[in-house]
Amino acid sequence: MERVTEMKKVEDVVIVGGGICGLATAVALKRVGIDAVVLERAETLRTTGTSITLASNAWLALDALGVSHKLSRLYSPLTRSTVINVSNGAVQQISFPQADKGRQVAPKAVHRKALMQALAEELPIKNIHFSCKITSISTELDIQGSSIAVLLMEDGTYIKTKVLIGCDGVHSRVARWLGLGEPVNSGRSAVRGLSIFPQGHQYDHDFTRFVDVSFNGAFVPLTDTELFWGLVIGNSAPLEHRDIAATTPAESIQRDIKEHHCKDFPKVYLDVVSHLDLSTLTWGPLKLRLPWNVIFGNLNKGTITVAGDAMHPMTPDLGQGGCSALEDAVVLGRCIGESYLKNERQLVSSEVAKAIDDYVKERRWRVAGLIAASFVSGWMQDGSSWLKRFIRNAIFYRIFRQYFSNITNYDCGKLPKISSCSPESNSRNKID
Ligand SMILES: Cc1cc2nc3c(=O)[nH]c(=O)nc-3n(C[C@H](O)[C@H](O)[C@H](O)COP(=O)(O)OP(=O)(O)OC[C@H]3O[C@@H](n4cnc5c(N)ncnc54)[C@H](O)[C@@H]3O)c2cc1C
Repeated sequence: MERVTEMKKVEDVVIVGGGICGLATAVALKRVGIDAVVLERAETLRTTGTSITLASNAWLALDALGVSHKLSRLYSPLTRSTVINVSNGAVQQISFPQADKGRQVAPKAVHRKALMQALAEELPIKNIHFSCKITSISTELDIQGSSIAVLLMEDGTYIKTKVLIGCDGVHSRVARWLGLGEPVNSGRSAVRGLSIFPQGHQYDHDFTRFVDVSFNGAFVPLTDTELFWGLVIGNSAPLEHRDIAATTPAESIQRDIKEHHCKDFPKVYLDVVSHLDLSTLTWGPLKLRLPWNVIFGNLNKGTITVAGDAMHPMTPDLGQGGCSALEDAVVLGRCIGESYLKNERQLVSSEVAKAIDDYVKERRWRVAGLIAASFVSGWMQDGSSWLKRFIRNAIFYRIFRQYFSNITNYDCGKLPKISSCSPESNSRNKID
């Protein structure tokens, strides 16, 4: 990959962060004829977390981006969600829609790497720059009097751009520059990893969840030989279980899960954890941006905005962080694309600023709702009081079923069509 050196020219669009959202946003812009430069601080595509479950709304967004076909043929749809109460063995099941119901499709778990590669392949190689960390942002006026963003890179060089999109994750520098409130800790943390069964596993293609007092586990098959699993450690767990040090070896975490945290879990869960590929284990605190920070905060200033976790970090209880990041990409691509096409394929700063206002208006309430719903869902699944356990066991999943169906049955729409593609748009990027 090309390394960015001092750039004298002003870029049209710079996207900070080459995660799911950054790549998807670059693809959306590419589809409407705009070349965006992606700056990623890692040396290559970061695929922390190994797997991601994509609900119907994400598949519709991937459809709009023109990449869903590359992934959907590789992975089977999940049939249902099974919730097992660890203390009394009670089982509740929620079937996922299998046939195309309206435009709703069943969720699928996919490898993060496959998703990121499917997106990266759509972009010209020259547009993704690795080992490029931005350290600060300022603005200046160009000769026409329009504001441009000036990015200071870690290596001391500067990059100037008309439009800046921060897709730089939970600890976003762009969000900080916009003055958005810092993400807060939910008090819970999560461990996740990939388990390998070389001879094939026996498990149904279901999303299986195990709920207990302070620990909630889940696993989901990716392929016939791989299962992705996670464990959420609730804030009612003893402190020593909640704070896993960065230096704790993966073997110790795996042993603690099997011998202490989940020793009463059904054998199937422990079997999945036992097959962990230790190199895939990750853990960390679960953070969120307070919904009112999203509703009332500055999600944009002129032609500078944020998307994905940079805008709306949420707890993973509804599996919507990545799905909604894909929605952001499509809506941003559509708003900026319409402005670009209306202005004879020019990015006119004042017009792009209005387009970004429209993007923010469209996304604000949707993502604030997802943050709140994810938090409530996680809070309910922690059975630390008899009242919570009663609501969780008796009614929560019945309500959740309808609600989950409603939030994932969301169509973020399409991208505007452009009449012809430049030859450049056909060059493909191969990244390992
Ligand atoms: C346990 C867990 C399970 C989850 N499960 C699901 C799920 O099943 N389904 C789902 O939809 N979502 C899920 N999520 C959420 C999902 O992982 C995130 O919402 C998604 O990865 C956000 O993508 P992003 O591109 O916005 O941010 P990120 O993936 O964090 O990407 C940000 C990128 O920006 C780069 N970057 C950061 N700072 C800089 C800088 N200064 N300069 C340059 N580059 C920078 C980083 O290196 C990174 O590559 C889960 C999250 C967790 C924690």
